[in-house]
Amino acid sequence: MLVSKLIKQDNKGNRVESIEDLTSKVFKLIVEQGKEGILQSRLWKELNLTSRDGSRIAMRLEKRGLVTRQRVLENGRWTFRLIALRLPLDTTSIEGAPCITCNLESMCTMDGSVSPNTCRLIENWVLVEMSKRMNEEKGSDANAGSVTSVQMHVESMQE
Ligand code: SF4
Repeated sequence: MLVSKLIKQDNKGNRVESIEDLTSKVFKLIVEQGKEGILQSRLWKELNLTSRDGSRIAMRLEKRGLVTRQRVLENGRWTFRLIALRLPLDTTSIEGAPCITCNLESMCTMDGSVSPNTCRLIENWVLVEMSKRMNEEKGSDANAGSVTSVQMHVESMQE
């Protein structure tokens, strides 16, 4: 099954969340655990995911260079600990970030034909996030210097 076809269903089989929403939630939870990361079994439990769907989402994030999966022995069983490769100071903007679920991410470079410099998705998202933040903070510079997931993504392509 293609990962893009994965959806979360309620117990009546109704679709309740898209793969994009779930991927963002998984990434946000991993980031919130900091450098320690989180055991995938705990993550699946918290998000009510099957291990099959959860593993596919984790592999998707790993493929995008956002997390690493460390094999660990836990209670006599091998499992994976999921750790974010880059940690933002502010996790509030991660959910909904287009780069997390973008199908073009592997082709996206600073100077390529697919680039954050010309991407409408990232431009629109940044504008919405900035507008939200400005409304919330009303002139406060409390978050000045924090690293957003947009900056993380742009920085990762500059390395
Ligand atoms: S900048 Fe745009 S094209 Fe590049 S990965 Fe993000 S959403 Fe996709």
